[in-house]
Amino acid sequence: MKINIAVDGYSSCGKSTIAKQLAQYAGYTYIDSGAMYRAVGLFCKRNNLFTSESIDENRLREILPSVRLSFQNGHICLNGEDVEQYIRTLEAGDWASKVSTLGFVRAYLVAEQQAMGKAKGVVMDGRDIGTVVFPQAELKLFLTAKPEVRAERRYKELLEKGIKADLQEVLKELNERDWRDTHRKESPLVQAKDALLVDNSDMTPQQQLDYVIRLFNQTANRD
Ligand code: C5P
Repeated sequence: MKINIAVDGYSSCGKSTIAKQLAQYAGYTYIDSGAMYRAVGLFCKRNNLFTSESIDENRLREILPSVRLSFQNGHICLNGEDVEQYIRTLEAGDWASKVSTLGFVRAYLVAEQQAMGKAKGVVMDGRDIGTVVFPQAELKLFLTAKPEVRAERRYKELLEKGIKADLQEVLKELNERDWRDTHRKESPLVQAKDALLVDNSDMTPQQQLDYVIRLFNQTANRD
């Protein structure tokens, strides 16, 4: 039996790593819903839709239907262009978090995400996957870790990618993003009632992987 797996949680707590590993183990498709918000954020930036404090919502509403998103070899494509290299910066995370507060943007992306999961066999990570996108997902994980641990991980990740960063700045940006994600009116980040909480602050990546693989095997009756 194929199932859908929802992986939600705060930023930088390793959602994509575990979701990819699980997809590989299961032979499922991994979908990074955050990349879709990031691509829409990039689109807004390129079209000068960000004003100093907000977004030109009317204009975005008009041109959003022209935004076509797809994944090729795990990379997000914006109207056919592979934009992976432009969407992983701190700034792009900020654009994503801003566009993700808009109900019409969420509705547009949620519809696409639901279509991708229709045939099951999908592992999708994000903020609202277990609550809004796939409320019927057979397995829901809610990941968390202490903010300091997450900031440290994100900081190292940025340095490894050759992106200059400052640890305090990363922690500040992360706390702001958490606050926006949990306090927004539209689909705020909350743990679904039937999601399993995984706090990986003190887990090694291998311990976490073994744990979720056990959960997957139990849920998909693979034991
Ligand atoms: O997961 P990632 O950090 O790439 O997501 C970037 C931003 O996109 C998040 O901070 C959040 O504001 C938004 N997002 C969302 N819903 C999702 C995935 C991402 O609101 N399902």
